[in-house]
Amino acid sequence: MKIAQVGEEVLKTPALSVQEELITDPEFQTFLDNLLACMLDANGIGIAAPQVFDPRAVMIIASRANPRYPDAPDMQPEILINPKVTAHSDNTCWEWEGCLSVPGLRGNIERADWVEVDYLSRDGNPKFVRYEGFLARIFLHEYDHLIGKTWLDHITDSNHIMANDVWMAKFVMQPQA
Ligand code: ZN
Repeated sequence: MKIAQVGEEVLKTPALSVQEELITDPEFQTFLDNLLACMLDANGIGIAAPQVFDPRAVMIIASRANPRYPDAPDMQPEILINPKVTAHSDNTCWEWEGCLSVPGLRGNIERADWVEVDYLSRDGNPKFVRYEGFLARIFLHEYDHLIGKTWLDHITDSNHIMANDVWMAKFVMQPQA
């Protein structure tokens, strides 16, 4: 799958809900597998369907330590279909983010500390989850893609943008193998 880069219309277009009865469709299940494989190939820790030119409201959250995010906590990848934010903290925190669709850059972005979400799992079951800290950040980053935004839309100060290599030199202590 090709990853859409910033400037593509699909990244500015709100995603469409997946019809519940289509979730178990083999074509859709294959799409989910391909989206997961695409994310893993790119060393991503999350991805949203619009990033592969698909307009449907699907995201994957898959935090794990990797060369792009050496300090990320490990988890099993979770597929969220038609996610809806039901509550979020008023408290926020700032952290540097990257995006597969915004190559070579990091942005310092303010996000809620925690978020509560209703969604459908890949077998079509309604689920509820509360994400905190870095996982809340990944969720909110991917959720932005489902409403036609990227982290660039949060930038109000150019000091909050850094080249990835500069960010790595500044913040990542261990040299990457
Ligand atoms: Zn992204």
